[in-house]
Amino acid sequence: MAGDTEAARDSRRSPMPEDDARFRLLVEHMTDLVAVHCEGRIVFINQAGARMLGVADPQDLHGRLIWDFIHPEHEALMVARVQRVLEEAMATPLVETKLVALDGSIVDVEIIGMPTSHEGRPASQVVARNISRRKHAEALAEHNAYVDPLTGLPNRRQFRDRMQHAVSLAKHHDRQLAILLLDLDRFKNINDTLGHEIGDALLQAIARRLQETLHHGVFFARIGGDSFSVILSRVTEEQDAMTAANSLLEALEKPFKVSEHDLYVSASVGISHFPCDGEEPSELLMNAETAMYRAKHQRNTCVLYSSSMHEAALERLSLESRLHRAIEHDEFVLHYQPQVDLRTGEIVGAEALIRWHHPELGMVSPAKFIPLAEETGLILPITDLVLRKACRQAREWLSAGAPLRRMAVNLSGLYFKQREVTDAIAAVLAECDLPPSMLELEMTESIFMEDHARTLATLQTLRATGVAVSIDDFGTGYSSLSYLQRFPIGMLKIDQSFVREIQAVTDDAVLVKAIIGLAHSLGMRVIAEGVETEQQRAYLAAHGCDEIQGYLISRPVPPEAFQRLMTPEAERRAS
Ligand code: C2E
Ligand code: MG
Ligand code: MG
Repeated sequence: MAGDTEAARDSRRSPMPEDDARFRLLVEHMTDLVAVHCEGRIVFINQAGARMLGVADPQDLHGRLIWDFIHPEHEALMVARVQRVLEEAMATPLVETKLVALDGSIVDVEIIGMPTSHEGRPASQVVARNISRRKHAEALAEHNAYVDPLTGLPNRRQFRDRMQHAVSLAKHHDRQLAILLLDLDRFKNINDTLGHEIGDALLQAIARRLQETLHHGVFFARIGGDSFSVILSRVTEEQDAMTAANSLLEALEKPFKVSEHDLYVSASVGISHFPCDGEEPSELLMNAETAMYRAKHQRNTCVLYSSSMHEAALERLSLESRLHRAIEHDEFVLHYQPQVDLRTGEIVGAEALIRWHHPELGMVSPAKFIPLAEETGLILPITDLVLRKACRQAREWLSAGAPLRRMAVNLSGLYFKQREVTDAIAAVLAECDLPPSMLELEMTESIFMEDHARTLATLQTLRATGVAVSIDDFGTGYSSLSYLQRFPIGMLKIDQSFVREIQAVTDDAVLVKAIIGLAHSLGMRVIAEGVETEQQRAYLAAHGCDEIQGYLISRPVPPEAFQRLMTPEAERRAS
């Protein structure tokens, strides 16, 4: 074996005699370039080599300098390598270079140099494999790794590289830089309702239009499904980035025509600046994202990052993890606020309102954590918890003979959408042995606006089982009223903002009057929320409102206090 290798090496090292016909025949028909040169001058070259160098007849290359064909960038390296080959009498490792052919075309080759001799003088042999095909494939792969196939725009990876580069340049030249993060609003809706094909076509059209809006040479990338980013590498003031962002938003105002649809889109843009909002690309991107989420609250707008946003985001994050713990450790209690019949003055119902006793933060207002719970989905386990606690409490009061007729629980839109509401409710009622007619679900208007068929079916099943539904905060949500007629809704809760309008001048309250009339004409009962004054109570009574709830009667109170409210004065004194 060893002998074989030795022999092979010897044969490679042996000089290539020009008169060795067998050898010539062999190398002349090789598809790779083979040339022998003496001090750089070609003494032999095969057919493949001649073709690669742009001539038909190898004879024409005889005596030409091999260096003339090596790409100038690589010349010095090649000279050094070949010299070493000759000095050390060994094959150099492979090197990649480019050969510049006589016709100017460039061939990528992988070269190996071997010592040889020519007429007794040291010469060297160049064996080069044409790797243009492979190089092309590599370049294509590289291109694909950096380009978004749908829009042809740079992708997230290229965006990262460019950011890195732009930031180092800005650092070096002591310049400012801005990143814009543009996220389409409700794009998921389009995909969901019209399908991905339309969604893709729309994305392509959006990408084109946005690109046309930007100055030539501004880096613009698609960095996610429906998000794009712009790097403004030279900004002098904050206004520059705002101007660019606004022109992008304006560009989206005209509808997009995709197949037969006229599609309207808007976007939210977050902006961060180097160096004031971060010195590192990752930080700048994160902060632009924070600003973009802030812009999402309003939609179709752009927001500059500010450090207070970061603090708010951190606070949110810590509140979220605390909320997780609160669910595990059951840190929630329910307070109950009475709902009073305006004609008899009796407490007919209780609204269960959640309270969070945090061991360190103390009492946290639902106004603060309910929205976060909705965003994070934690509202689902929280609602399960509230439903169970409220129903248990109602059962307890009922068993004690309290004259309570109704327990109202707030049901979030997310719960309605994501849970099998009717099953969940039936299970809780059965567990607590509570008559369904005791339970009322308060829902906001937004629930009635979505997925009509499913909403209707759920509400009908609820009604069939006897569970009541009321609209909470009526008048603050959507303007369409047609849903009132379509859905089986038992009661309408006039939002506090309208009740507050009831002042000394009674005409201020035309809306309240109108809402009461509307509800009654549709066969619903009406309760006014947030009643704080006697004046308001009197007005509501005069205009036929059925019930009231508010500080005038009582604030939401713990269960024991609520029980006292339900017990008539005489009974309390007697006991
Ligand atoms: P909401 O369901 O409209 O509840 C009425 C809110 O108005 C309660 O605030 C109540 O304390 C307050 N309020 C009652 N009477 C008056 C009054 O006379 N004047 C004034 N200024 N305010 C009054 P709270 O308890 O802070 O709850 C705020 C909101 O949080 C609720 O509004 C509801 O949307 C949500 N929420 C509370 N508990 C739950 C729950 O268990 N589940 C869900 N999904 N949401 C809840
Ligand atoms: Mg409510
Ligand atoms: Mg309300």
